[in-house]
Amino acid sequence: MDSVYDWIDLHDISVELASDVLLAHQSRALPVALPWIADKVDQPPRRCCLPDLETCLNTLVAPSLGRLLGDIGAVQAIVETVDICPLGENPATLPHTRDLGRDKPPVIAIHWQGTAADLLCLAHEAAHAIQIVWSDHAMMPPVARETCAFLGELALIEGVRANNPEQASDLAAAWITDNILYLGKHVEALEQVLRDPSHPYHYQINYPFARLAAIFLFWRAKKRQKRIANLFQSGAAGMAHLPLHAMAAWACHPTNCLPAAPLADQSPSGDAYRNLAMIAHLDLQASGSEHSLSIGDYYARILAHFQTGTAFIALDGLNRPVGYATWDQTEQKAPLALCNQVAPFGDHLAVQRTLERHLDGLHPIAARHPESMKSEQKAW
Ligand SMILES: [Zn+2]
Repeated sequence: MDSVYDWIDLHDISVELASDVLLAHQSRALPVALPWIADKVDQPPRRCCLPDLETCLNTLVAPSLGRLLGDIGAVQAIVETVDICPLGENPATLPHTRDLGRDKPPVIAIHWQGTAADLLCLAHEAAHAIQIVWSDHAMMPPVARETCAFLGELALIEGVRANNPEQASDLAAAWITDNILYLGKHVEALEQVLRDPSHPYHYQINYPFARLAAIFLFWRAKKRQKRIANLFQSGAAGMAHLPLHAMAAWACHPTNCLPAAPLADQSPSGDAYRNLAMIAHLDLQASGSEHSLSIGDYYARILAHFQTGTAFIALDGLNRPVGYATWDQTEQKAPLALCNQVAPFGDHLAVQRTLERHLDGLHPIAARHPESMKSEQKAW
């Protein structure tokens, strides 16, 4: 490939589609990590004591990829045959996987010092090797090929979570660190060349869409296992298996600009402050009557609701706060009178449904918020 025009042709996409996916990413509509990864963003990876490369490949990477693709035996058989080519400590050569044709196993060239980043890289390259064999060595377009590899990384983190949360935490920190490149500098490079596709082609422009598509498939795809297995087998038709159109459609959605909520803390005070912050952000977006309160009165009011268990925050599928409700304490089974309800991005129905589930039928809900209800009625 010489120019970005060639890249666009090879991937059977248009500049418009690519720009919409970028817009969806930049408007923060697309997730850039999974909730259990985003939670670890502030923790630098510790130096962990990993076993040797072969042990990691056979006991961590292969089972995780096997579960991702629904065929542990087939994945294990491929992993056992791949050749490993150590790259030593010279960082000049980047890790990669070579396809030597049908009669030879793929070769994984990799640096290995036993860090979490090395293990993540091993999962990435092993996923390339499996995609090569499952596609019968047919050339897969680079964005699709890198999506497979990033799916391998996510599968590894998910795979080790159950048995080794600390190791999963280190892998998650390494993943987030990699995003600085894949969803930072490489996005800027992609933006630049899409403005003028006569630019020379560089491999790095494949990574942003692959990264985002992997996250999208891993988290949101229905029949995930089958879809991802089909992608690994698709060879030259790989792009048909990526959800780029679905991702681009998110560019048109009303934007919830709030970040994903972190997972619950072990400490009650940490959770209380998080909840207060989420409610304050939602109120700032809504610009409702709460703005007229002093900070002290506002804080006291919200805190009192949390202390009496009369506040609820609704999160969307991306774990972002979409709204909240507060109500007066009342007898069990008595109708619940909401005293405030906020859904600044238009997710009123979602807030109501999740609140109903939260209350588990203990109370019918009536609302009496002067700014969103003309008179008392069933909420939203
Ligand atoms: Zn790769």
